[in-house]
Amino acid sequence: MRKQRTLKEAVKASGIGLHSGKKVEISLEPAKENTGIIFYSEDDNTQIKVSTQSVINTQLATTIGKGNIIIGTVEHLLATLFALHIDNIFIRLKGREVPIMDGSSAPWVYLIKTAGIIQQNAYKKAIIVKKPVKIKEDGKFVALIPSKEFEISYSINFDNPVIGKQRMDIVVNEHNFIKEISKARTFGLLRDIEYLQAHNLALGGSLDNAVVVDEYGIINEDPLRYENEFVRHKILDAIGDLSIMGLDIRGKYIAYRSGHDLNNKLVKELIKSSEAYEVVGNPRSEKAAVESLVWNPLKAKA
Ligand SMILES: [Zn+2]
Repeated sequence: MRKQRTLKEAVKASGIGLHSGKKVEISLEPAKENTGIIFYSEDDNTQIKVSTQSVINTQLATTIGKGNIIIGTVEHLLATLFALHIDNIFIRLKGREVPIMDGSSAPWVYLIKTAGIIQQNAYKKAIIVKKPVKIKEDGKFVALIPSKEFEISYSINFDNPVIGKQRMDIVVNEHNFIKEISKARTFGLLRDIEYLQAHNLALGGSLDNAVVVDEYGIINEDPLRYENEFVRHKILDAIGDLSIMGLDIRGKYIAYRSGHDLNNKLVKELIKSSEAYEVVGNPRSEKAAVESLVWNPLKAKA
């Protein structure tokens, strides 16, 4: 169990909104312990605290909102905050979307490292998965099962010869995230992007912030950043989606062909199943909860 953290000082950036195509200014600012992650929209003079209830749309990207005020494309920033253990932060926005930057988490890692990180006094609560929770839907599958660490096993299977089948298994921690996941960019099929832009969506999308693929290869001139960049980006997205619980995670997340929508359903399913998890807030209760986990079903029977 670790202590909560926030930024040492405020840091600013600007970029393009993926969906609006408009310029967005963003400022990441330190916040007191137990604040959580708060977005503040200057346009609407409204604060939105990130929670499972704040997620209102999971098509294409994750959108949070309150009433009719919405903030879009939060997932890459949220994934970075989760992995770098930035628990308390005030995010001020001029615009209604988090800028897409280069389509990965690398610029957010850089900004947070530039701001510096400080430890606070309160413990960070953790959710311990005690029983498996699964969802199967349209040939897709997601599950959370008990594990002492936060692990992800992700498989994709695209009906496209360039993306195809990829699988990756990883323990999610700050080091692994920065090295193995943070640089993986958003990707899309050329035909989908043409369709989206014809319908006034993904207006800010370009080869500067997405890997675009057709039947023959990658349209971008610069090469892939990882050989299996596609599955790595799906892991990045999943970390962002699971992070909205506002808790450290002890459990293994398994996904086959998942996306924001299914990830979000899984989080809701877990929270609904009170016997499937325990939230711990201090080292003693964490130790007791982990020791009570049944690791070997055969042993448990005997
Ligand atoms: Zn993404």
